[in-house]
Amino acid sequence: MAAIDGLPPLRDVIARHGLDAKKALGQNFLLDLNLTQKIARTAGPLEGVTVFEVGPGPGGLTRAILSLGAAKVIAVERDPRCLPALAEIADHYPGRLEVIEGDALKTDFDALAAGIDGPVRIIANLPYNVGTQLLVNWLLPRQWPPFWQSLTLMFQREVGLRIVADADDDHYGRLGVLCGWRTQASMAFDVPPQAFTPPPKVTSSVVHLIPVAEPMPTRAEALERVTAAAFGQRRKMLRQSLKSLGGETLLAKVGIDPQRRAETLSVDEFVMLANAL
Ligand code: SAM
Repeated sequence: MAAIDGLPPLRDVIARHGLDAKKALGQNFLLDLNLTQKIARTAGPLEGVTVFEVGPGPGGLTRAILSLGAAKVIAVERDPRCLPALAEIADHYPGRLEVIEGDALKTDFDALAAGIDGPVRIIANLPYNVGTQLLVNWLLPRQWPPFWQSLTLMFQREVGLRIVADADDDHYGRLGVLCGWRTQASMAFDVPPQAFTPPPKVTSSVVHLIPVAEPMPTRAEALERVTAAAFGQRRKMLRQSLKSLGGETLLAKVGIDPQRRAETLSVDEFVMLANAL
């Protein structure tokens, strides 16, 4: 029996193309199109939108995005075994799916976006081993606002909590400051291990990030230096953890109490420190 989009069920696709999951490629596939549509819907309306997807695998999320009316999907997949399955989806949606075989970490998404008219959104069930690095790359593009209107990404729940964390939250750290500086990040929903084939060890979460129009001006490298030092010794007082960057003198410049700890500082306060370096 065909699935809700008229294509064969993903379980059949995986069996027919011999796509047994490879751990080294972070392959945990989603087979339920209702769930992949729920992820795609989190990105907002997709009509007229070009979606960049990383790691389409057998195409569960890709199919959801296309069935919800995205103008086009450009998907980057590292595993060549997935290409024939993806070609079947491309045939079903003529002219709307372009697959790039390659490593997303080496893909120049800014250059890809430069050739596109209309809005771009990024939606992905990311391979866990490269997910955080990709997110950081998308947060630090050559110019701001970035080429993307939103990022809707699946992570291990633990990483998702770090992405959306604010000050005074145990999960608040370098990633939370970076995301909070340039985006509004929110937790959409959790996905239990049983939803995947094969099931991973931990719960996953879908997070949604939209760029803020005008983040407080600072240099990303300076912000990174301050947060690395502050959270490198997160239980210590800032006068100690920031010693190598000027310690009490630096803190006095921006009027921050040297007895405070990293996790009590707002994103704006970290930016002020970065600008005072
Ligand atoms: N999107 C599919 C789904 O939701 O069922 C598959 C998700 S699976 C967690 C991650 C996918 O990313 C796999 O298909 C894997 O081959 C691919 N992948 C792993 N590393 C990659 C990389 N560096 N660049 C592009 N794709 C990668």
